[in-house]
Amino acid sequence: MSNIGQVIKNSKKIVIKVGSNVLSDESGFVNHDFISGLVNQSASLLEDGHEIIIVSSGAGIFGVSAIDKWNRRKDINYKQALCSIGQVELMVAYKENFAKYDKHVGQILLTNDDFKSSARTLNIRNAIFTLLDEGVIPIINENDSVSVDEIKIGDNDTLGALTSVLWNADLFLILSDIEGVYSANPKLNSNAKLLEDIDDIDNLLDNIDTSGTSTFGTGGIATKINAAKIVKEHGIPTIILKGSETAILDAIESKVKGTYFRG
Ligand code: ADP
Repeated sequence: MSNIGQVIKNSKKIVIKVGSNVLSDESGFVNHDFISGLVNQSASLLEDGHEIIIVSSGAGIFGVSAIDKWNRRKDINYKQALCSIGQVELMVAYKENFAKYDKHVGQILLTNDDFKSSARTLNIRNAIFTLLDEGVIPIINENDSVSVDEIKIGDNDTLGALTSVLWNADLFLILSDIEGVYSANPKLNSNAKLLEDIDDIDNLLDNIDTSGTSTFGTGGIATKINAAKIVKEHGIPTIILKGSETAILDAIESKVKGTYFRG
């Protein structure tokens, strides 16, 4: 078994972060097969004794899929409205898929301010721990409908990292539209090499090329590296895998590669 497979298997508490690009198909609509596969893999992890929290993007994409309008509007109020519609759809998708395994889901929507206030942080912690104690899967997202720039965390890589630290997770697992961190963006450079095992995060961004990012992602690879840095300060490792219906189970069986940041 690869290092990555071993790390996943040995991690009891796993925060799984799902990016917008893996939740959508090429035409920008919701990829329901991916959600169903993610939930299937989550159920298998739970069965094997892991605990999981899902940090999921996708409110915007689910909003577009639900009402198929406003997606080209740049006005912030319409973007917020779209996310408010899509967040419901996103949760319905998780709820219906987890129901197949007799599992409930709980929604928690957060902004940056929530992590700055110790009272609110305590409340988040209490809610998350209670859900987990009762076998409910917390599904966390940025509260996009109220998150204007001043209170935005900005990307779910960072939200996932903050959640991992808050919960004292054993592993932060990022499902992206790419296998991991490359020496350069492989979509622009065919010689780019996958970096499979990273110990020194501090100098990483100076040594790789991070230009170009994908259609719906807001973070890009640099925010994933910074998120890995946040959790590493607390001894938590990060793994990036290319999201698919079977990516996590494939990684456990050494069928796919990814990037492992040591904790
Ligand atoms: P997600 O939606 O999963 O959060 P993002 O689109 O935000 O993903 O970030 C991943 C993208 O970052 C990749 O698809 C790739 O286009 C881009 N990228 C730029 N530089 C690199 C690099 N050095 N290694 C990997 N990906 C890179």
